[in-house]
Amino acid sequence: MNIDTTIAAISTAQASAGISVIRISGGEAIQIAEKVFRTKSGKKLSEMKGYTCALGTAHENGEAIDECIATVFRAPHSYTGEDVVELSCHGGVYITARVLRAVYDAGVVAAQAGEFTKRAFLNGKLDLIEAESVMDIISSRSKESARAALNVKEGALSRRINSLKDELLNLAAHLNAWADYPEEDIPVVENDALSDSLKSVEAQLKDILQNYDNGRILKDGIDTVIAGKPNVGKSTLMNLLAGFDKSIVTSVAGTTRDIVEESVSLGDIVLNLSDTAGIHETGDEIESIGVDKARSRVNSAALLLCVFDASSPLTDDDLDIIRLANEVSSVAILNKSDLTQQADEALIKEHFDEVVKMSAKYATSADELVQAIKRVCSVGDINSANALLYNERQRTLTMKAVNCVSEAIEALHIGLTLDAVTVLIEEAVGYICELTGERVTDEVIDKVFHQFCVGK
Ligand code: GDP
Repeated sequence: MNIDTTIAAISTAQASAGISVIRISGGEAIQIAEKVFRTKSGKKLSEMKGYTCALGTAHENGEAIDECIATVFRAPHSYTGEDVVELSCHGGVYITARVLRAVYDAGVVAAQAGEFTKRAFLNGKLDLIEAESVMDIISSRSKESARAALNVKEGALSRRINSLKDELLNLAAHLNAWADYPEEDIPVVENDALSDSLKSVEAQLKDILQNYDNGRILKDGIDTVIAGKPNVGKSTLMNLLAGFDKSIVTSVAGTTRDIVEESVSLGDIVLNLSDTAGIHETGDEIESIGVDKARSRVNSAALLLCVFDASSPLTDDDLDIIRLANEVSSVAILNKSDLTQQADEALIKEHFDEVVKMSAKYATSADELVQAIKRVCSVGDINSANALLYNERQRTLTMKAVNCVSEAIEALHIGLTLDAVTVLIEEAVGYICELTGERVTDEVIDKVFHQFCVGK
């Protein structure tokens, strides 16, 4: 990537909207914006300070295209660290495309996917972990997830990781100095003290690793299957959770033929719901397909919500479903609690982590269900203020760093040379530098930013 070029892209969604923002970034951003945009006041953009804006008109070949606001950012105080002009125009798809074309014609290059954030990284505005969190903020679907991503963006994880790196670097520096300059007055390396320091770093890295699963729950949601024989109220429940009619609610058994998927946000967490066709032995071909899918979904789900019609005695089909509950974290829902209860509650209680009596139709006890789900998935323990690892790249590198530190402790323990210990500590530092992007190949950088959208 040539960072000397000036780039532009539409940074807002490509759809009709109140406004659209075209971002121009690079050494010539202000001069190029001036060719396209004339302020109403006659003041030139190049005379404007950073963080100021002006009302004016965007032009193409002398013809006015739209009335816009231009906001000027001066390097290094901008998202990318370069001079940036953002043109906020009316959000019509056509108008936005025309303003962008005028900007291109004035001499900028079309920005690649993620190029603004990539430049921010290359200009030292963000490290790689913080840059990755930008994507996580954009794709957040719940309050906790957004808060956790913002914490990472603001450096919570980077600060923690960097302080561990500094500790390791100090240890390595001391070991090297002691080995290389025996005649100098360098304090002797005490094996016990060294081992204690390494163990403390190891414990902290492991703690960060453990948070990975919490990060995934916040980010990706919990894969959840709603299962139950036909007519117990699964669709009604799903609609209650999703807040709108997604699957067909009907009193005719077996009409929810296929799996309907919906992500619902329950405040702190997101459930990715599969509402399956009733698990029900049947000769009906279409419904059998649904039943098979339901069974296979249960195996790969993290949470099973089993719905029972509490107003009638349990049947063999219900007992089949109860058996599924032993496989994953499970909540039994004794639905239709507005009617007289006939189902054997004690039997259900034996097999499920939580049992909730509710009426999906009348939306009673919905909050109890949410609390039960949170308890079963240990969501109450997630603290978004913790520095959460968010993706596989980060997890793998942290794990490699932990392994090196563990090996260094072991090397010390079995009496290998301090040289060998130093090499392992330096290797751990290498992985941490790769994690933050301090030492990273162009391929890795390209891979990270390739996942971004154009305009970010
Ligand atoms: P599914 O086949 O399991 O998806 O069941 P549906 O959601 O289609 O519901 C079947 C029937 O049960 C519909 O007539 C619903 O209105 C009714 N139903 C669902 N939940 C309740 C409830 O809590 N109480 C009562 N009385 N009826 C319910």
